[in-house]
Amino acid sequence: MKESIRAYAESLGFAVFGIADPARFNTLPENAHPCSIQPACKAVIVVGMPLPRGGFRGIEEGTLWSYNGRRVPYRLLLDIARFIEQSTGYEAVAYEATPAKAMPRRKPVSQSHVAPNVMLNFDWAAVAAGLGEIGLCGQLLTPAYGPRVSLGIVLTDAPLEADPVYTGTICDRAHCRSCADACPMHAIHPNETITVDVAGRETVLARVNYSLCATCPNGAMPDVNFKIGQEEMMPGYTGNQEKLTETSTALTRKDVPNILSAVCTRSCIAHLEDNNLLTIRFHNKFRESEPWTLRNWER
Ligand code: SF4
Ligand code: SF4
Repeated sequence: MKESIRAYAESLGFAVFGIADPARFNTLPENAHPCSIQPACKAVIVVGMPLPRGGFRGIEEGTLWSYNGRRVPYRLLLDIARFIEQSTGYEAVAYEATPAKAMPRRKPVSQSHVAPNVMLNFDWAAVAAGLGEIGLCGQLLTPAYGPRVSLGIVLTDAPLEADPVYTGTICDRAHCRSCADACPMHAIHPNETITVDVAGRETVLARVNYSLCATCPNGAMPDVNFKIGQEEMMPGYTGNQEKLTETSTALTRKDVPNILSAVCTRSCIAHLEDNNLLTIRFHNKFRESEPWTLRNWER
């Protein structure tokens, strides 16, 4: 059953595929747990579509402001859910990613139920499904594509065998500071780290000032496929002053801007490829010269 679902997902273009046991989310609050969406959930399927490296080149070289989405098209997740239901007789839920601030705030329908809205953390889910690790800068890194992957989640009550959590190392955080060094706004603090247990995997994360990322002119952008609002790119205000000093991690903040195309993430791609830390190889180097950046926003 698992292999037929994997083969179907691959036929849709999902080269990255893994399954997590819902128990790997048990250390998260109820409003971030898959069973709060599908109480009978037995398997969290996490699929990933590689983002073509060519889609990063325009912004790397300052010739084209290009967009790389973090989330896969929802209709493809619905296709997987339909395939599961029609071929196995089990139920499936295609999880629709929506930014937290765009959702209405309501009370629970009863005291025994979790309050809306339940938001799954994609990076946590990807680690729980064995797809890779979260790097120092908070981006998911996969062994083949590094951060060049967009993700989707399908829940099912089918009893599918979980994949093991990835135990290898992609981010060589003890030696590498490429993401932090590349940031003209000094938003990544590699010497201020916290260690988090992500689905059983000990992970060191740098504190990042995502309020600065929300104003970053070097490739951060809103996820336009979310459609409702683009709040993750809007800095908060205290009185009439922008709040630009707050640091957090990708796991503690709900609305992390899409920084996949930003110079920090592109520097991570260049570093991982130059040091042969990814399994996918190209004929040409990703970075041939200094990356394009707007330095006049230095703070
Ligand atoms: S998105 Fe911009 S501000 Fe944030 S870490 Fe990357 S380069 Fe720095
Ligand atoms: S640039 Fe280096 S330190 Fe930063 S996430 Fe990538 S591999 Fe890790």
